[in-house]
Amino acid sequence: MTKRFGSLVANDKLSVTVEEDTIHGVMGPNGSGKSTFFNTVTGFYRPDGGTVRFDGEDVTGWKPDEIARRGLARTFQIPSPFEDLTVKENMLAVFTGGIRSGVRISEEKRARADELLELLEIDHVADQEAGGVSGGQEKLLELGRILMLEPACVMLDEPTAGVNPSLRNRLLDHLETLNDRGTTFVIIEHDMRVIADVCDRVTVFNQGQVLVEGDFESVTSDERVRDAYLGG
Ligand code: ADP
Ligand code: MG
Repeated sequence: MTKRFGSLVANDKLSVTVEEDTIHGVMGPNGSGKSTFFNTVTGFYRPDGGTVRFDGEDVTGWKPDEIARRGLARTFQIPSPFEDLTVKENMLAVFTGGIRSGVRISEEKRARADELLELLEIDHVADQEAGGVSGGQEKLLELGRILMLEPACVMLDEPTAGVNPSLRNRLLDHLETLNDRGTTFVIIEHDMRVIADVCDRVTVFNQGQVLVEGDFESVTSDERVRDAYLGG
């Protein structure tokens, strides 16, 4: 898959395969094309070449909401909840498309929201306005909102950035629990400990291309990876 911005090739014939039921890490220096990869795979950008296949289907050129409904969801580096709605209302708003009232939400979906809020340990702030919760809780809410769609695969852009260590560890526990239940994750992550703790496989990007792919040990001991980070 290739994605250009003018003369800049942000993703240069990039080829990545994510296996079902894994947690797949994406690493690489700043500007190596990680976020562009996420944006293109999930339909926010249209690739200039190549294809995006999900679960056996060519989803190239599909709109983000079509791809999300097909089972491939993503979070953004910076969460943006509806600040005036409560945490729980935010969870349910994924089905109403926002703050429209009058859209009927099934008991099943309400129960799912309760279950996820409990799983992510933000049920105690369910009735607080999302604008007032902590940054870490906001991240968990963003993950919860995505999970309401029951995606087969979730792509997370720097999920632990700006999250304190105890919440970080809980977030990783939640990811592993969800992964055990069958959700595949792709995570962009700078924190090596996170990659080492949860990722089954890692792809390292450099200058819009795949530099190295493998398990954590083999990737981090690879000289080319060290050079790429040192070279900035
Ligand atoms: P990473 O997430 O690995 O830090 P990005 O995918 O954000 O890298 O960026 C890859 C390259 O593409 C960078 O050189 C960046 O400046 C450029 N880029 C990213 N998004 C845009 C955009 N919307 N318009 C122009 N250039 C962009
Ligand atoms: Mg990025």
